Amino acid sequence: MKNKNLKNAAFFTFFFLILILASACKEEPSTRYFKAMDTFMILKAYGNKAETALAISENEIKKLEETISVTLDGSDIYEINNSPEKEIFVQKDTLEILNFAKSIFEETDGSLNPALYPVVHEWGFTSGEYKIPSQEKINSLLKNTDFLKIQIDEKACSVKIPDGMKIDLGALGKGFAGDKAAEILRKKGIKSALLDLGGNIQAVGSKPDGSEWKVGVRNPEGGDACARICVKDCAVITSGGYERFFVGEDGKTYIHIFDPKTGRPVENDFESVTIISKSGLYADSLSTALFVAGLEKATEFWRKKQNFDFIIITKGKKIFCTAGIKEKTDFSQEFEVSFVEK
Ligand code: AMP
Ligand code: MG
Repeated sequence: MKNKNLKNAAFFTFFFLILILASACKEEPSTRYFKAMDTFMILKAYGNKAETALAISENEIKKLEETISVTLDGSDIYEINNSPEKEIFVQKDTLEILNFAKSIFEETDGSLNPALYPVVHEWGFTSGEYKIPSQEKINSLLKNTDFLKIQIDEKACSVKIPDGMKIDLGALGKGFAGDKAAEILRKKGIKSALLDLGGNIQAVGSKPDGSEWKVGVRNPEGGDACARICVKDCAVITSGGYERFFVGEDGKTYIHIFDPKTGRPVENDFESVTIISKSGLYADSLSTALFVAGLEKATEFWRKKQNFDFIIITKGKKIFCTAGIKEKTDFSQEFEVSFVEK
């Protein structure tokens, strides 16, 4: 009898151990869904400190939005735009993003230009009231878009813009927000998290089982992803013409990514540009800048820098990507893939 009880006890102990082990293996992530920076964000993280760390990250993203929003009265960017020729004291984050934007502006021959805001606004992309402005209007607005005329005083942490200029960090702010959120999670000891900031992906570490995150690149025509890339500890950020566009009275499609040289929406055969890099700020800046630059200049820029990877999808179901990602990417059979070599 005693022996049978012992056997039962051993069986139940073993059974519970298996249950505990199984639930540990299938650990569920903590998740936060919220709206910020004009988009939906989903932050997922694993580990017992995930809940608190995610709450702090969400808070930080919302705080950053209040600092760099172009529309929010009282934000740094709002103050700068509404007080031209006046020295405006700003947060360190604002200064860091503006400095970074200036360096990318210079390196990409002005393809990324935050001072293009009045032009983008005139076409209706900030209000949804789309229109094709007259060439005269475009030309007059383009006169105030020399971003190098912005004065950044690092010591004083202040910024001054010339009269007529207005800036917007919409092309790179979300990338910076992803960096900040990821940094908080890492500092809080999180080893595994995946942050989706409106399609901008930021991976912290790898999956809880140690394998890499698989991030899909959207098929411009819908349906299954056209590529799935395995990554850890990096940002995967896409600029897509399909994200926002309108069809004009002339029947042509006008997308939300602008060529700063012409003051008009980019007209090339790109559907999207995805950048994979350690820094979200860099990836976000380049996804926009290289969309403007086109395939030849994007390739030239990559050969010079070699500190990021790209996946460019063009019309006619073609994919051009850097050779380094060949081994870690699955491509949809529907697309013709070409690899760009060093
Ligand atoms: P993204 O989705 O990161 O490519 O950012 C595109 C957004 O940045 C647009 O919706 C515009 O508000 C703004 N934008 C468009 N073209 C440019 C450009 N060439 N440089 C800087 N910002 C731009
Ligand atoms: Mg961008």
